[in-house]
Parts: sequence; structure tokens; C-alpha cells
Amino acid sequence: MTDELIDDFGRRVSYVRISVTDRCDFRCVYCMSEEMTFLPREQVLTLEELGLVARAFTELGVEKIRLTGGEPLVRRDIDRLVADMGALPGLKDFAMTTNGAGLGKYASRLREGGLQRLNISIDSLDPERFRRLTRTGDLNKVIDGMRAAREAGFERIKLNAVILKGRNDDEVTSLVEFARQEGVDISFIEEMPLGDVSDHSRAETYCSSDEVQALIEQHYELIPTAETTLGPSRYFRMPDSESRVGFISPHSHNFCASCNRVRVTVEGRLLLCLGNEHSVDLRAVLRRHPGNIEELKKAIVAAMPLKPERHHFTTDGDVQVVRFMNMTGG
Ligand code: SAM
Ligand code: SF4
Repeated sequence: MTDELIDDFGRRVSYVRISVTDRCDFRCVYCMSEEMTFLPREQVLTLEELGLVARAFTELGVEKIRLTGGEPLVRRDIDRLVADMGALPGLKDFAMTTNGAGLGKYASRLREGGLQRLNISIDSLDPERFRRLTRTGDLNKVIDGMRAAREAGFERIKLNAVILKGRNDDEVTSLVEFARQEGVDISFIEEMPLGDVSDHSRAETYCSSDEVQALIEQHYELIPTAETTLGPSRYFRMPDSESRVGFISPHSHNFCASCNRVRVTVEGRLLLCLGNEHSVDLRAVLRRHPGNIEELKKAIVAAMPLKPERHHFTTDGDVQVVRFMNMTGG
């Protein structure tokens, strides 16, 4: 069997994002609605199934895994899962995206289990506004979690901020300043039309990366770099700081041509593209052939021709993909 994943456009898939839960202790306005129905347990992959999926991908040449959700740190025994995956041969980059609230509890266990990098989402430095944007979140707990992660030995921690016009675009510069003070990187994300959120009109809140960049450049010089973390961020450096500033711009700087990623949802659906519905049901394979990694690998290889050339997000606020981000894994 081939040990590489190549799609029909010659792109090699080297990176998989795995969603380990659809649940979350926050309800961010751009990600979830206030009342969410979560999946019954039997529809969610077990820890063993998740571990097998990760192993299958690494045996197929995938070098980077990012765990996401929902909020990965609300999944029971997440530290055990991390330790299992952290021991996979061939895995060169092992990362997690988290809201940070559980890092006080978990940071050192995750580090010991082999997790190498953390992205922590933080959209505001004002506790009240943070609470409004996340509906339930406690800013101080997140900041304490970030510091606990640093103490546990995580290097190059990266903050992620989704910028919404009229909601937090006035905090762009303070977020950069905060990242510089804390010695971490920061990426700004354009809001994506995933799921039908009732909180705001996406057409009104859309804030492009170029607008965010212009706001930052009023205060800091940004020097473009060719650095990459194998993800969709474009990075800039500042002359007087180690912190990097990144932009994730699915609307304004389409990154499909260099896309090396696929996603596995919490239900075991292999998604070939964030912005399309093309998918393959890996859970069905896992449950038809329990513990059989060769069948799983065959299904993953067979899915590659389904990877579309590009997504077609627009900024007019139409919902194009009905999945919420917590289902997809950000
Ligand atoms: N709970 C974790 C967290 O918040 O970091 C991981 C999952 S979350 C879905 C992953 C990332 O997706 C977060 O940085 C979040 O801000 C971002 N996100 C969620 N919904 C989004 C949307 N509609 N557009 C752009 N980014 C979104
Ligand atoms: Fe939870 Fe992350 Fe979605 Fe916020 S963005 S609701 S923290 S999954």
C-alpha cells in the first residue's frame, strides 16, 4: 500500500486536525448558538478509535496532528489520549487548539505526554467583554492557564483571536502588545461562515486581515516572513520582539492551493475541506472492522480523490456550510 496521501491536485496531505469532542465549556458567539444540542456518546469516537485514527494517519505519512474540538480539555481522559498519540513514531509536530480554561489543570500532564505546541483562543483582554464574546468564559482563568502552560515548558505558545468589527476590532493593538509582553505569538482569524449563528450578522462584523494588519501597523512595524508552521497562517515579525504576528485569512487570501490538511470530526467523518461537505465515514469502517488499522488506512487513501480544489466562502453573510465550527474542529 502507498504510504503517502496525495490528492488529485498533487497536494500531499501531511497534517490532520482531529476533533476530540463537540462539547465546550464556552459558547463563543461566532462558534455556537446559546442553546446547543451535543451528540450522544455512542456517536462520538472512543479514545481507542481516536488513537487508531491518529496512528493510521501517521503510518500514511502525516507528520502533524492538531487536536481540537469543541474544547479538547473537556474530553474525559484527554491526557491519556495525548500520551498515546505523543508516542506515535513519525509524528513531528503535535499541537492542540484550546480555549485555555483547562490548562491550569492539564498543562503539565499534556507536556509530559508529548504535546509540543498550544494555540490558545483569546478575543478580548477586557473581562466583561470576554464574557460577552464567550458567553460563559472567565478571562483570568484563561490567562492563568496560558501562564501555567509556559511554566510547564510549552514554547512558542500562540494566541488566536477572531476579530469582529464593532465587537473587538478596537483591541487589535492591545492584543499584540499583550502577546509581546507575554512572549507568545498571536494570529488573527477572519470569521468563517460555519453554522448559522443568531448573535450577529456576519456581513456586518466581517473584518479582513488587511484591515487588522493596517490597525497593527499604526503602532508596530511588521516584517513579512516565509516562516510556516505547516498551517494556513501568514507570519510577520516585529523588529523589537520575538513575538510573531500571523493572519489566517480564508476569505481574503485564499490558501487552498497549498492546503495540506484534512480534518476528522468528532463523529469520525473525514472532511477533505473545511468549506465543503465532501466526507468519508471513518466511524463506519472502525465499527465494521474494530481495531483493524489496514482497513482504516485503505478508507483514508481511497478518500483522497474527494479533496476539492478549493473552498468558496463569501463575505455576504450567507451560511454555506451548515456544520458549526465545534463539529468541524477549528
Ligand atoms: N475550543 C478551542 C478553542 O476555542 O480554541 C478549539 C476549537 S475552536 C472551534 C478553534 C478555533 O476556531 C478557535 O480559535 C476559534 O476562535 C475559531 N473559530 C470558531 N468559530 C469560528 C468561525 N466561525 N470563524 C473563524 N474562526 C472560528
Ligand atoms: Fe468553545 Fe472554542 Fe467554539 Fe469557543 S471557539 S465555543 S471555546 S469550541
